[in-house]
Amino acid sequence: MAKINLTDLTFEQLENEIISLKEPSYRAEQIFISVHKKNVRSINDITSVPVSLRDKLNEKFIIPGLVNSKITDSANSVTRKFLFETESPDPGQRNFIESVLISEKGRETVCISTQSGCNVGCGFCATGKMGFKKNLSVSEIILQVYEVKRLSGKEPTNIVYMGMGEPFLNYENMLNSLKILTHPSGFALSSNRITVSTVGFTGKIKKFADDLTAAGNSSVKNVKLALSLHSTDKGFREKIIPTSVKNTLQDIYKEISYFYQKTRNKVTYEYIHFENLNDTDNDIKRIARLLRMIPSNLNVIPFHKIDFELKKPLDVFNNKQDTKNLLSNEKLNDFIDKLKNEKVIVNLRSSSGSDINAACGQLSFNQEKISGTEYKPIS
Ligand code: SF4
Repeated sequence: MAKINLTDLTFEQLENEIISLKEPSYRAEQIFISVHKKNVRSINDITSVPVSLRDKLNEKFIIPGLVNSKITDSANSVTRKFLFETESPDPGQRNFIESVLISEKGRETVCISTQSGCNVGCGFCATGKMGFKKNLSVSEIILQVYEVKRLSGKEPTNIVYMGMGEPFLNYENMLNSLKILTHPSGFALSSNRITVSTVGFTGKIKKFADDLTAAGNSSVKNVKLALSLHSTDKGFREKIIPTSVKNTLQDIYKEISYFYQKTRNKVTYEYIHFENLNDTDNDIKRIARLLRMIPSNLNVIPFHKIDFELKKPLDVFNNKQDTKNLLSNEKLNDFIDKLKNEKVIVNLRSSSGSDINAACGQLSFNQEKISGTEYKPIS
Protein backbone atom coordinates (compact mmCIF):
# COMPACT_ATOMS: atom_id res chain seq x y z
CA MET A 1 0.00 0.00 0.00
CA ALA A 2 1.32 3.46 -0.90
CA LYS A 3 2.50 5.45 2.07
CA ILE A 4 0.60 8.57 3.13
CA ASN A 5 2.29 11.95 2.89
CA LEU A 6 2.36 13.19 6.50
CA THR A 7 2.77 16.83 5.42
CA ASP A 8 -0.51 16.65 3.48
CA LEU A 9 -2.61 16.14 6.60
CA THR A 10 -4.52 18.83 8.42
CA PHE A 11 -4.46 18.68 12.21
CA GLU A 12 -7.82 16.89 12.35
CA GLN A 13 -6.80 14.36 9.69
CA LEU A 14 -3.55 13.65 11.53
CA GLU A 15 -5.40 13.22 14.81
CA ASN A 16 -7.67 10.60 13.20
CA GLU A 17 -4.64 8.75 11.83
CA ILE A 18 -2.95 8.73 15.23
CA ILE A 19 -6.10 7.45 16.93
CA SER A 20 -6.33 4.69 14.29
CA LEU A 21 -2.77 3.67 15.30
CA LYS A 22 -4.13 3.26 18.87
CA GLU A 23 -1.92 6.08 20.13
CA PRO A 24 -3.08 8.90 22.43
CA SER A 25 -4.45 11.85 20.44
CA TYR A 26 -1.99 14.31 22.05
CA ARG A 27 0.73 12.66 19.97
CA ALA A 28 -0.87 14.30 16.91
CA GLU A 29 0.03 17.73 18.23
CA GLN A 30 3.62 16.72 18.91
CA ILE A 31 3.98 15.38 15.38
CA PHE A 32 2.20 18.38 13.84
CA ILE A 33 4.55 20.78 15.66
CA SER A 34 7.61 18.86 14.43
CA VAL A 35 6.43 18.83 10.81
CA HIS A 36 4.97 22.33 10.49
CA LYS A 37 6.73 24.45 13.13
CA LYS A 38 10.13 22.79 13.27
CA ASN A 39 9.92 21.67 9.63
CA VAL A 40 11.65 18.33 10.18
CA ARG A 41 12.49 16.57 6.96
CA SER A 42 12.34 12.97 8.18
CA ILE A 43 10.07 10.96 10.47
CA ASN A 44 13.15 9.91 12.46
CA ASP A 45 13.66 13.59 13.34
CA ILE A 46 10.32 13.73 15.21
CA THR A 47 12.14 13.21 18.48
CA SER A 48 9.25 14.44 20.64
CA VAL A 49 7.55 11.04 20.23
CA PRO A 50 8.91 7.64 21.34
CA VAL A 51 10.95 5.52 18.96
CA SER A 52 8.15 2.91 18.94
CA LEU A 53 5.74 5.48 17.48
CA ARG A 54 8.34 6.69 14.98
CA ASP A 55 8.63 3.08 13.81
CA LYS A 56 4.87 2.87 13.37
CA LEU A 57 4.86 6.19 11.51
CA ASN A 58 7.65 5.02 9.20
CA GLU A 59 5.55 2.01 8.20
CA LYS A 60 2.58 4.11 7.11
CA PHE A 61 3.81 7.61 6.30
CA ILE A 62 6.50 9.55 4.46
CA ILE A 63 7.70 13.17 4.56
CA PRO A 64 8.71 13.99 1.00
CA GLY A 65 10.41 17.29 0.21
CA LEU A 66 10.62 19.66 -2.71
CA VAL A 67 13.86 19.50 -4.63
CA ASN A 68 15.33 22.93 -5.04
CA SER A 69 16.73 23.39 -8.49
CA LYS A 70 17.60 27.04 -8.75
CA ILE A 71 17.49 30.38 -6.95
CA THR A 72 17.63 33.63 -8.93
CA ASP A 73 18.10 37.07 -7.34
CA SER A 74 16.83 40.34 -8.77
CA ALA A 75 19.39 43.08 -9.33
CA ASN A 76 18.00 45.20 -6.48
CA SER A 77 18.02 42.19 -4.06
CA VAL A 78 14.35 42.75 -3.22
CA THR A 79 13.10 39.67 -5.04
CA ARG A 80 14.30 36.06 -5.10
CA LYS A 81 12.79 33.43 -7.36
CA PHE A 82 12.88 29.74 -6.39
CA LEU A 83 12.44 26.94 -8.87
CA PHE A 84 11.34 23.67 -7.27
CA GLU A 85 10.87 20.24 -8.71
CA THR A 86 7.70 18.42 -7.68
CA GLU A 87 6.39 14.95 -8.30
CA SER A 88 5.29 14.53 -11.88
CA PRO A 89 2.06 12.77 -12.90
CA ASP A 90 3.97 11.53 -15.95
CA PRO A 91 7.07 9.47 -15.04
CA GLY A 92 8.74 10.50 -18.30
CA GLN A 93 8.40 14.21 -17.54
CA ARG A 94 10.04 16.35 -14.90
CA ASN A 95 7.71 18.78 -13.21
CA PHE A 96 8.52 22.23 -11.85
CA ILE A 97 6.97 25.15 -10.00
CA GLU A 98 8.19 28.59 -9.02
CA SER A 99 7.83 30.61 -5.81
CA VAL A 100 8.94 34.16 -5.10
CA LEU A 101 10.19 35.92 -1.96
CA ILE A 102 9.73 39.69 -1.89
CA SER A 103 11.63 41.47 0.89
CA GLU A 104 10.45 45.06 1.17
CA LYS A 105 8.93 47.54 3.60
CA GLY A 106 9.84 45.28 6.53
CA ARG A 107 7.85 42.40 5.10
CA GLU A 108 8.95 39.00 3.85
CA THR A 109 6.20 38.04 1.46
CA VAL A 110 6.21 34.57 -0.07
CA CYS A 111 4.25 34.21 -3.30
CA ILE A 112 3.32 30.56 -3.77
CA SER A 113 1.92 28.39 -6.56
CA THR A 114 -1.08 26.09 -6.34
CA GLN A 115 -0.74 24.42 -9.72
CA SER A 116 2.09 23.63 -12.07
CA GLY A 117 1.01 25.55 -15.17
CA CYS A 118 -2.59 26.69 -15.56
CA ASN A 119 -5.35 26.03 -18.04
CA VAL A 120 -7.22 29.31 -17.62
CA GLY A 121 -5.03 30.78 -20.34
CA CYS A 122 -5.11 34.51 -19.51
CA GLY A 123 -3.67 36.42 -22.42
CA PHE A 124 -1.15 38.37 -20.36
CA CYS A 125 0.23 35.50 -18.29
CA ALA A 126 3.27 33.34 -18.91
CA THR A 127 1.93 30.54 -16.67
CA GLY A 128 -1.19 30.38 -18.81
CA LYS A 129 1.00 29.86 -21.88
CA MET A 130 2.52 26.72 -20.31
CA GLY A 131 -0.79 24.89 -20.20
CA PHE A 132 -1.85 22.78 -17.25
CA LYS A 133 0.62 20.27 -15.81
CA LYS A 134 -0.92 19.31 -12.47
CA ASN A 135 -2.65 20.39 -9.27
CA LEU A 136 -0.19 20.66 -6.41
CA SER A 137 -0.76 18.51 -3.35
CA VAL A 138 -1.28 20.21 0.02
CA SER A 139 2.33 19.49 0.95
CA GLU A 140 3.67 20.87 -2.34
CA ILE A 141 1.82 24.11 -1.59
CA ILE A 142 3.01 24.53 1.99
CA LEU A 143 6.54 23.18 1.44
CA GLN A 144 7.18 26.19 -0.80
CA VAL A 145 6.84 28.37 2.30
CA TYR A 146 9.02 26.11 4.44
CA GLU A 147 11.70 25.77 1.75
CA VAL A 148 11.80 29.51 0.99
CA LYS A 149 12.21 30.10 4.74
CA ARG A 150 14.98 27.49 5.04
CA LEU A 151 16.88 28.56 1.94
CA SER A 152 16.63 32.31 2.51
CA GLY A 153 16.93 32.32 6.30
CA LYS A 154 14.03 34.81 6.34
CA GLU A 155 10.89 34.35 8.42
CA PRO A 156 7.83 34.79 6.14
CA THR A 157 5.53 37.55 7.39
CA ASN A 158 2.98 37.34 4.58
CA ILE A 159 1.87 34.73 2.08
CA VAL A 160 0.11 35.41 -1.20
CA TYR A 161 -1.45 32.68 -3.34
CA MET A 162 -0.54 34.49 -6.53
CA GLY A 163 2.12 32.25 -8.08
CA MET A 164 1.53 29.68 -10.78
CA GLY A 165 -2.02 28.44 -11.21
CA GLU A 166 -5.54 29.32 -10.20
CA PRO A 167 -6.04 28.50 -6.49
CA PHE A 168 -9.81 28.02 -6.86
CA LEU A 169 -9.23 25.26 -9.43
CA ASN A 170 -7.32 23.33 -6.77
CA TYR A 171 -9.78 24.30 -4.08
CA GLU A 172 -9.62 21.53 -1.47
CA ASN A 173 -5.82 21.42 -1.40
CA MET A 174 -5.65 25.21 -1.28
CA LEU A 175 -8.09 25.32 1.68
CA ASN A 176 -6.30 22.55 3.58
CA SER A 177 -2.96 24.31 3.04
CA LEU A 178 -4.49 27.44 4.61
CA LYS A 179 -5.66 25.43 7.61
CA ILE A 180 -2.15 24.08 8.18
CA LEU A 181 -0.33 27.37 7.61
CA THR A 182 -2.58 29.15 10.12
CA HIS A 183 -2.98 26.37 12.70
CA PRO A 184 -1.58 27.45 16.12
CA SER A 185 0.41 24.20 16.32
CA GLY A 186 1.34 24.43 12.64
CA PHE A 187 3.08 27.26 10.84
CA ALA A 188 0.88 29.61 12.92
CA LEU A 189 0.78 32.57 10.56
CA SER A 190 -2.10 34.92 11.32
CA SER A 191 -4.74 34.50 8.62
CA ASN A 192 -4.98 38.26 7.99
CA ARG A 193 -1.45 38.01 6.57
CA ILE A 194 -2.55 35.64 3.82
CA THR A 195 -4.20 36.60 0.53
CA VAL A 196 -5.71 34.22 -2.00
CA SER A 197 -6.08 35.54 -5.52
CA THR A 198 -8.53 34.29 -8.14
CA VAL A 199 -9.84 35.32 -11.56
CA GLY A 200 -13.28 34.44 -10.15
CA PHE A 201 -15.45 31.35 -10.50
CA THR A 202 -19.16 31.41 -9.85
CA GLY A 203 -20.00 29.47 -6.71
CA LYS A 204 -16.41 29.23 -5.52
CA ILE A 205 -16.07 32.70 -3.94
CA LYS A 206 -19.30 32.08 -2.04
CA LYS A 207 -18.06 28.66 -0.94
CA PHE A 208 -14.77 30.22 0.15
CA ALA A 209 -16.65 32.73 2.33
CA ASP A 210 -18.71 29.91 3.83
CA ASP A 211 -15.63 27.77 4.49
CA LEU A 212 -13.65 30.60 6.08
CA THR A 213 -16.49 31.26 8.49
CA ALA A 214 -17.46 27.63 9.17
CA ALA A 215 -17.39 26.29 12.72
CA GLY A 216 -13.96 24.85 13.49
CA ASN A 217 -12.20 26.99 10.87
CA SER A 218 -11.45 29.99 13.06
CA SER A 219 -7.72 29.97 12.20
CA VAL A 220 -8.48 30.85 8.56
CA LYS A 221 -11.34 33.30 9.07
CA ASN A 222 -9.37 36.46 8.20
CA VAL A 223 -7.79 35.23 4.96
CA LYS A 224 -8.09 38.01 2.39
CA LEU A 225 -9.43 37.69 -1.12
CA ALA A 226 -7.99 39.32 -4.22
CA LEU A 227 -9.89 39.32 -7.49
CA SER A 228 -7.81 39.50 -10.67
CA LEU A 229 -10.11 42.04 -12.25
CA HIS A 230 -8.01 43.69 -14.98
CA SER A 231 -11.08 45.14 -16.65
CA THR A 232 -14.64 46.08 -15.74
CA ASP A 233 -15.63 45.85 -19.38
CA LYS A 234 -17.30 42.51 -20.09
CA GLY A 235 -16.02 42.23 -23.65
CA PHE A 236 -12.40 43.13 -22.89
CA ARG A 237 -12.27 40.93 -19.79
CA GLU A 238 -13.65 37.97 -21.71
CA LYS A 239 -10.87 38.41 -24.23
CA ILE A 240 -8.03 38.49 -21.75
CA ILE A 241 -9.51 35.99 -19.22
CA PRO A 242 -11.24 33.22 -21.17
CA THR A 243 -13.09 31.77 -18.14
CA SER A 244 -14.90 35.07 -17.61
CA VAL A 245 -17.26 34.22 -20.47
CA LYS A 246 -18.99 31.70 -18.18
CA ASN A 247 -18.15 33.44 -14.92
CA THR A 248 -19.61 36.84 -15.63
CA LEU A 249 -18.62 40.01 -13.82
CA GLN A 250 -22.21 40.46 -12.71
CA ASP A 251 -22.19 37.10 -10.91
CA ILE A 252 -18.68 37.60 -9.54
CA TYR A 253 -19.61 41.02 -8.11
CA LYS A 254 -22.57 39.40 -6.30
CA GLU A 255 -20.27 36.78 -4.79
CA ILE A 256 -17.67 39.37 -3.80
CA SER A 257 -20.40 41.25 -2.00
CA TYR A 258 -21.46 38.02 -0.28
CA PHE A 259 -17.83 37.36 0.67
CA TYR A 260 -17.58 40.72 2.40
CA GLN A 261 -20.97 40.45 4.14
CA LYS A 262 -20.05 37.01 5.44
CA THR A 263 -16.39 37.48 6.42
CA ARG A 264 -16.06 41.29 6.80
CA ASN A 265 -12.64 40.84 5.15
CA LYS A 266 -11.60 43.64 2.83
CA VAL A 267 -11.26 42.70 -0.85
CA THR A 268 -8.47 43.73 -3.18
CA TYR A 269 -8.91 44.09 -6.93
CA GLU A 270 -5.81 43.41 -9.02
CA TYR A 271 -5.64 45.49 -12.17
CA ILE A 272 -2.90 45.21 -14.81
CA HIS A 273 -2.61 48.47 -16.67
CA PHE A 274 -2.89 48.08 -20.44
CA GLU A 275 -2.40 51.51 -21.89
CA ASN A 276 -5.38 52.70 -23.95
CA LEU A 277 -7.19 49.42 -23.41
CA ASN A 278 -8.41 49.48 -19.80
CA ASP A 279 -7.61 53.01 -18.60
CA THR A 280 -10.27 55.13 -20.28
CA ASP A 281 -12.54 57.59 -18.45
CA ASN A 282 -15.34 55.02 -18.63
CA ASP A 283 -13.06 52.41 -17.08
CA ILE A 284 -12.26 54.82 -14.25
CA LYS A 285 -15.95 55.54 -13.61
CA ARG A 286 -16.82 51.84 -13.52
CA ILE A 287 -13.89 51.05 -11.20
CA ALA A 288 -14.93 53.85 -8.83
CA ARG A 289 -18.51 52.52 -8.78
CA LEU A 290 -17.29 49.00 -8.06
CA LEU A 291 -15.01 50.09 -5.23
CA ARG A 292 -17.85 51.92 -3.55
CA MET A 293 -19.77 48.63 -3.34
CA ILE A 294 -17.79 47.21 -0.37
CA PRO A 295 -14.62 48.25 1.53
CA SER A 296 -11.93 47.43 -1.01
CA ASN A 297 -8.86 48.74 -2.73
CA LEU A 298 -7.31 48.55 -6.16
CA ASN A 299 -3.78 47.34 -6.85
CA VAL A 300 -2.59 48.67 -10.17
CA ILE A 301 0.13 46.51 -11.69
CA PRO A 302 2.37 47.63 -14.53
CA PHE A 303 2.17 45.22 -17.43
CA HIS A 304 5.23 42.95 -17.40
CA LYS A 305 6.74 41.68 -20.58
CA ILE A 306 6.67 37.92 -20.96
CA ASP A 307 9.33 36.00 -22.74
CA PHE A 308 7.44 34.85 -25.78
CA GLU A 309 5.44 36.71 -28.34
CA LEU A 310 2.40 38.33 -26.77
CA LYS A 311 -0.55 37.41 -28.91
CA LYS A 312 -3.47 38.24 -26.68
CA PRO A 313 -4.91 40.70 -25.87
CA LEU A 314 -3.54 42.30 -29.00
CA ASP A 315 -4.78 39.77 -31.50
CA VAL A 316 -8.23 39.77 -30.06
CA PHE A 317 -8.55 43.46 -30.70
CA ASN A 318 -7.12 43.13 -34.12
CA ASN A 319 -6.16 46.77 -34.03
CA LYS A 320 -2.58 46.31 -35.13
CA GLN A 321 -1.29 47.87 -31.96
CA ASP A 322 2.39 47.33 -31.41
CA THR A 323 3.24 45.28 -28.31
CA LYS A 324 5.64 48.03 -27.27
CA ASN A 325 2.67 50.30 -26.59
CA LEU A 326 1.54 47.91 -23.89
CA LEU A 327 4.94 47.98 -22.27
CA SER A 328 4.96 51.74 -21.81
CA ASN A 329 3.85 53.12 -18.46
CA GLU A 330 3.63 56.76 -19.44
CA LYS A 331 -0.09 56.93 -18.78
CA LEU A 332 0.13 54.93 -15.59
CA ASN A 333 0.53 57.89 -13.24
CA ASP A 334 -2.23 59.76 -14.98
CA PHE A 335 -4.53 56.74 -14.60
CA ILE A 336 -3.70 56.48 -10.89
CA ASP A 337 -4.26 60.23 -10.32
CA LYS A 338 -7.66 60.05 -11.98
CA LEU A 339 -8.62 57.05 -9.83
CA LYS A 340 -7.57 58.94 -6.70
CA ASN A 341 -9.71 61.89 -7.80
CA GLU A 342 -12.62 59.45 -7.80
CA LYS A 343 -11.69 58.54 -4.19
CA VAL A 344 -10.52 55.05 -5.13
CA ILE A 345 -7.99 53.61 -2.68
CA VAL A 346 -5.30 52.70 -5.14
CA ASN A 347 -1.80 51.27 -4.74
CA LEU A 348 0.81 50.90 -7.42
CA ARG A 349 2.23 47.39 -7.16
CA SER A 350 5.99 47.29 -7.45
CA SER A 351 7.55 45.79 -10.57
CA SER A 352 10.32 44.34 -8.47
CA GLY A 353 11.53 41.06 -9.88
CA SER A 354 10.60 41.76 -13.48
CA ASP A 355 14.30 41.51 -14.40
CA ILE A 356 14.25 37.84 -13.34
CA ASN A 357 10.76 37.10 -14.69
CA ALA A 358 9.40 36.93 -11.15
CA ALA A 359 6.85 39.73 -11.34
CA CYS A 360 3.10 39.35 -11.75
CA GLY A 361 2.19 37.19 -14.75
CA GLN A 362 5.75 36.19 -15.52
CA LEU A 363 6.08 32.87 -13.69
CA SER A 364 6.80 30.04 -16.05
CA PHE A 365 9.54 27.59 -16.66
CA ASN A 366 11.11 26.53 -19.84
CA GLN A 367 11.57 22.78 -20.06
CA GLU A 368 14.55 23.14 -22.40
CA LYS A 369 16.34 25.51 -20.07
CA ILE A 370 15.67 23.19 -17.13
CA SER A 371 17.08 20.12 -18.83
CA GLY A 372 20.04 22.13 -20.10
CA THR A 373 22.93 23.50 -18.15
CA GLU A 374 21.23 26.62 -16.83
CA TYR A 375 19.28 24.84 -14.08
CA LYS A 376 21.48 22.80 -11.83
CA PRO A 377 20.30 21.32 -8.57
CA ILE A 378 21.85 23.04 -5.58
CA SER A 379 22.08 21.61 -2.12
S1 SF4 B 1 -3.31 34.87 -14.45
FE1 SF4 B 1 -3.66 33.18 -13.00
S2 SF4 B 1 -5.54 32.20 -13.77
FE2 SF4 B 1 -4.73 33.46 -15.48
S3 SF4 B 1 -3.44 32.03 -16.66
FE3 SF4 B 1 -2.11 33.08 -15.17
S4 SF4 B 1 -2.01 31.70 -13.42
FE4 SF4 B 1 -3.79 31.08 -14.66
